[in-house]
Amino acid sequence: MNKKTQLIHGGMTTDPYTGAVTTPIYQTSTYLQDGIGDMRQGYEYSRSANPTRSALEGLIADLEQGTHGFAFGSGMAAISAVMMLLDKGDHLLINSDVYGGTYRALTKVFNRFGIEADFIDTTHIDTIEQYIKPETKMLYIETPSNPLLRVTDIKKSAEIAQQHNLISVVDNTFMTPYFQNPLPLGIDLVLHSATKYLGGHSDVVAGLVATKDADLAERIGFIQNSTGGVLGPQDSYLLVRGMKTLGLRMDQVQRNTLAIIDMLQQHQAVKQVFHPSMAEHLNHEIHQAQAEGHTGVVAFEVEDIESAKQVISKLQYFTLAESLGAVESLVSVPALMTHASIPKDIRQKEGIADGLIRLSVGIEGTEDLVSDLTQALDTLK
Ligand SMILES: *Cc1c(COP(=O)(O)O)cnc(C)c1O
Repeated sequence: MNKKTQLIHGGMTTDPYTGAVTTPIYQTSTYLQDGIGDMRQGYEYSRSANPTRSALEGLIADLEQGTHGFAFGSGMAAISAVMMLLDKGDHLLINSDVYGGTYRALTKVFNRFGIEADFIDTTHIDTIEQYIKPETKMLYIETPSNPLLRVTDIKKSAEIAQQHNLISVVDNTFMTPYFQNPLPLGIDLVLHSATKYLGGHSDVVAGLVATKDADLAERIGFIQNSTGGVLGPQDSYLLVRGMKTLGLRMDQVQRNTLAIIDMLQQHQAVKQVFHPSMAEHLNHEIHQAQAEGHTGVVAFEVEDIESAKQVISKLQYFTLAESLGAVESLVSVPALMTHASIPKDIRQKEGIADGLIRLSVGIEGTEDLVSDLTQALDTLK
């Protein structure tokens, strides 16, 4: 099935109870039992399951070519549920440029429960195995990563994980299931901050997990119900609604992004551009092989922090804000915003220059975005 068709017809589309074309918002916490333990459709209590959430969970399972989906109250709640698969004393390997919130949860929360993480460079796939210890139980990657869009080989990561009996996890937030499906490449669990492209309208905070492994599905479902970080019916409805246009939005995002990169590469004030679509990008071929398109997150470097500030002050259509993946274009300066808590020397070692600007390209008209950025950069000459 074409992915655009799947976005409309995947999961539970028609309401089985009324025939409503959309799954209604089942705003209920509990359900009638005709006799003790005799539930009409299996629904008992909305932490365990809710029909609106079930519609969303079925949809993400289908989109990721999995069998089971799980919806959480945020991307971090989804990531935390995945980390709860680990036991005290377990160790995991994770890319060093992982999302800041994931880093924080691992180093300030899960460490207190005896779960240890090593943050490593996963872009050089051949070096991963040297970090595996007897206690290592999970390999977790984000590809492409933030803000320099570094690419890790998904299939090889899955192979390494299989050989060493590790649970393999991909945070697929930047790519969406429309452009990248880690499960068919052998990955055990794929997760999303659905706050970003899946919701797509800057109006929902949510997280999703999908798998095709029945055992892992049972364990994640148990953790979801036991620890309770579930997504409510209103937000589940909004996400399903947003996801119907994911394909249309990503097509336009990609079109805009490639046009912007074309301009940036030619502009005198731009020192370097970071995006996996570029032939000179590290692991470009791997990205081309494992993905069907391109994220709208792109980073580029200007001379220094003052230049970055000036460009941002001149932009009309790029809103200065954190987050990414919505219909409106956003701009940020990682060194002053998302990555400000990282010490400057470590930041620079990681390649995050002070003059680095990160865009999240939206779905506005291509010419408007290109000319807006051009005029802002022109003021630097
Ligand atoms: C935003 C984000 C998260 C966290 O998701 P929330 O919905 O904000 O909790 C995790 N991973 C990536 C790649 C993100 O961009």
